Amino acid sequence: MAYVFPAPPQAVVPVAGSTDLFPVHRIYCVGRNYEEHAKEMGFTGREPPFFFAKPADALLPVPEGTGEMPYPPGTQNLHHEMELVVAIGRRGRNIAAADAAAYIWGYAVGLDMTRRDLQGEAKKLGRPWEIGKGFDFSAPVSSVKSIEKTGEITRGRIWLKVNGTMRQDSDVSKLIWSVNETIEHLSKYFELVPGDLIFTGTPEGVAAVLPGDVLEGAVEGVGTLRLKIAPPAQD
Ligand code: MN
Repeated sequence: MAYVFPAPPQAVVPVAGSTDLFPVHRIYCVGRNYEEHAKEMGFTGREPPFFFAKPADALLPVPEGTGEMPYPPGTQNLHHEMELVVAIGRRGRNIAAADAAAYIWGYAVGLDMTRRDLQGEAKKLGRPWEIGKGFDFSAPVSSVKSIEKTGEITRGRIWLKVNGTMRQDSDVSKLIWSVNETIEHLSKYFELVPGDLIFTGTPEGVAAVLPGDVLEGAVEGVGTLRLKIAPPAQD
């Protein structure tokens, strides 16, 4: 028995400060999880969290220095969403928020890149979001730092500059649903397994980027991420 073509490579994120790799299983994302961002998207209040996903191979590891993301096809409005990313290290379902920290392997800094025009059209038509959210290279992620090194992340500045100008500047403590509550909700619907990543939502200030733009940001206590938007990929 043999594969009919070489098996696709395992999506991985480097582990900060080591040569180890964190193998990625699924990428879950939480929608509208900071109040001011919910407002800028036309919503208010603490509604139950909702989730969408990106394919694992939408991952674009940005371990050190500057990563490059090709400007994706089919959009005129590519948005940045700076987010704290949680890396799951233990299998579980129906996890109580009080127990959730034991399931966290570590944390990373991620960008939930979004084709906002296509997402908006999909919303209007009641269609799925994949075309706006789950495209190639749509999930740039920094190295993962283990929770042993970071401690539990419940607060800390989260910010993003584009070409040196501050675009997003908030604090992880402003998450509507905390990391532990998010794990509680998500694990009611999906069995979480080692290798799952959870993008926890973005603060206000999302806006468009263009080829040549340089995005630079951080989550305090977790890491930094620097990404250049490259010209569209050519065949
Ligand atoms: Mn997001």
